[in-house]
Amino acid sequence: MPKPIFEVRDSAIQGSGAFATRRILKGTRIVEYIGERISTEEADERYGDMSKHPHVVLFIVDKRTVIDGGAGGNDARFFNHSCEPNCQTIMEKKRIYVEALHAIEEGDELTYDYHLDFGVAPTEEDKKQYACLCGAASCRGTMLAPIPEKKPRAAKKVAAKKKAAKKKA
Ligand SMILES: [Zn+2]
Repeated sequence: MPKPIFEVRDSAIQGSGAFATRRILKGTRIVEYIGERISTEEADERYGDMSKHPHVVLFIVDKRTVIDGGAGGNDARFFNHSCEPNCQTIMEKKRIYVEALHAIEEGDELTYDYHLDFGVAPTEEDKKQYACLCGAASCRGTMLAPIPEKKPRAAKKVAAKKKAAKKKA
């Protein structure tokens, strides 16, 4: 068995995090996001209305399906959010993989941008609940996706971006 390329331990960002156990090259597929595949209705039942309270262990696959990393999940669920992440998530045949955005040094915490998306402007309470502590210079202070600027001509772009924001948490 090859040595795993990351380990889970205490994180300065929050709770547990995933850390590189060796240098990881750009584009390396690090782990698949595993968990029970459930309907959005089932997810709402487990965690409350997802459109109002995105949950960080849920990964949106499409309109109907989410992966519940809290049920039968693997260590991929310990990856923390960062506004300046070193990983990104890729969907391939409805499976989710975490890949290195650039070269990562041994010991670095592995992160990706959760881009939590309510579809509407979050309230102050939402902002508190999903506050970001990543510490990046460009930290936007929240794990929520940036709110698109309201320009009528940009409407199409916004729709495309929402599609791209796969992770709801
Ligand atoms: Zn941040």
